[in-house]
Amino acid sequence: MRNNKTNFDIDSFNSLPDNLKNNDYIDMLLFLIHLKPNVRLGKNHVTAYNNMKKWCRTNGYKYIISSSGYMYISRLFISAKITQIVDDSMWKHSDLLGTLLGYPKCCRRKIKEIGEQNIDEYERRLCSNGFKKPYHLINSSTYTKGYALISHVPCCNNCKESLLIARQALRVINYYKEYPCMKRWTRVLK
Ligand SMILES: [Zn+2]
Repeated sequence: MRNNKTNFDIDSFNSLPDNLKNNDYIDMLLFLIHLKPNVRLGKNHVTAYNNMKKWCRTNGYKYIISSSGYMYISRLFISAKITQIVDDSMWKHSDLLGTLLGYPKCCRRKIKEIGEQNIDEYERRLCSNGFKKPYHLINSSTYTKGYALISHVPCCNNCKESLLIARQALRVINYYKEYPCMKRWTRVLK
C-alpha cells in the first residue's frame, strides 16, 4: 500500500526478491519513489529474473529482458521497451539513456563530456577526492556494495541535483527503517 506521507509503496519494496544484485535495491527504491522513470537491472541470475517477473506481475509493473541479459522495468511496457532499444543501440546514447533512467541533467552532461568508456576511471578519481558533508550522501563508490543513495555517477563532488535525490531516498529509508528491506542502509542513517 502506498503511504501518503512518503508516496512510497513500502509493501512492494519489502517484497522484492532477496537475490538481486546489491546495487539493484537503490535503483528499485528510486523507481518506487518516482525519481526514476525506468530501471535497468542486471545482469542477474535467471532465478532472480524469474522472481522479478513474478514481482512485476504481482505489483503491476511492466518489464522486458534483453538478449544481452538486462532487465528493464517501468510502469508502461513501451517505456521499458524504449529504454532497452536505446541501451542496445549503437549510436551515442548516454544522454538519452541517462534521461530514461532519471539521471540529473548536469551529471548526464558530464558523462557525455568524458565519454561513457571513461566513467569508471572518472568515478574513481571523483570519489578519491572525498565528499564534504552533506555531499557524503552522493558518494557513489558504495553503489556495488549496495548502500549508495543514488544510482548514477555524480558530475562533481558537490552536485546539488544528486544531493536532492540522495536526500529523498534517505527520507524514505529513515521513515521505514524498521523494515528488513532498509537494513542495508543502516550505516548511512544518522
Ligand atoms: Zn550533477
